[in-house]
Amino acid sequence: MRVALSQPVQTALEECVETRLSVIVPCFNEEAALNTTLERIMNVCNSQFGAQYEVILVDDGSHDATWELIENAAQQHRHAVGVRLSRNHGHQSALLAGLAQARGSLILIIDADLQDPPELLPAMCALMDKENADVVYGKRRSRAGESDFKKGTAKAFYRLLSAVTDVDIPVDSGDFRLMRRHIGDLLLSMPERDRFTRGMVAWLGFKQIPIEYDRAARTAGETKYTMRKMLRLAVNAFLGFSLLPLRMAMALSAITFFLSLTVIAYTIWSWLTLQTAPGWASVMILIAVVASAQFAVLGVIGEYVGRVYLQGKQRPLYLVRNVIDRRKEGK
Ligand code: UDP
Ligand code: MG
Repeated sequence: MRVALSQPVQTALEECVETRLSVIVPCFNEEAALNTTLERIMNVCNSQFGAQYEVILVDDGSHDATWELIENAAQQHRHAVGVRLSRNHGHQSALLAGLAQARGSLILIIDADLQDPPELLPAMCALMDKENADVVYGKRRSRAGESDFKKGTAKAFYRLLSAVTDVDIPVDSGDFRLMRRHIGDLLLSMPERDRFTRGMVAWLGFKQIPIEYDRAARTAGETKYTMRKMLRLAVNAFLGFSLLPLRMAMALSAITFFLSLTVIAYTIWSWLTLQTAPGWASVMILIAVVASAQFAVLGVIGEYVGRVYLQGKQRPLYLVRNVIDRRKEGK
């Protein structure tokens, strides 16, 4: 016989099993930092959310013992979930893989190297409640332990990006952010391949507010963002959130057009005043006209073809090798 539960009891029961927070941690070769990271995240979560949280550790194809550590943690703690990607698919895809596993009504994205302090979580939650915000994103007041080159390029990158895009992508903030569930769901429903999560979150809109913090140095290990990966992210950001490259092709075509006019004028002048070889003028004019027209058209078509090509491939963004998930076991 089924006993009908009164509404308060039903609600209390539902609250009991609800996951209030999912923490997503992308990890690539983070064996040196991982245990400390997990400990610090769990300490904060335990005091803030009791039993109602999960930490999703995504191994982005590490070559070191990262997966073994994650596997261990997932076996030991009910709160830890391990996801192993089939190879190194990149930080942004690892984030997406983590999002796909998240069940919490709140989602925190944090790096595995403790540069973003997990201890900021209570303040982020308080700010989110107070302001009724959908996203609270970390804004770096300072960046310790990073080279002048990295700081300089990051600063220039964020400012250039905000100058060329219509979307209000906040400067000096990474992917460290607390978001409400629906923001995560919307991110999951966006099928674009070249992902720039912080830009996509900004593009979604809703209420997004910053929280300032001092970015610490890495606890252990080296940066996993190689120059190549950083450049790729920057290119994704510019192509994904700005039409400037398209407009540059247009601008280029205008320049070549005026250039060809000059060449044509010079050719006609030489033809009239100097002794030019027969056929020279017509060939020069033809080259000038055709070259400028070709460059213009090629620039524009190339941009479209590139996008259609990427979209048309429709490859999955990541392939999961295995998943350890003990969340369904009794509490
Ligand atoms: N990361 C990843 N896949 C990669 C590169 C990095 O999952 O291909 C993770 C990395 O383990 C870390 C986060 O992304 O948790 C940020 O990387 P990192 O700290 O090296 O970047 P930085 O802070 O130096 O910009
Ligand atoms: Mg880092």
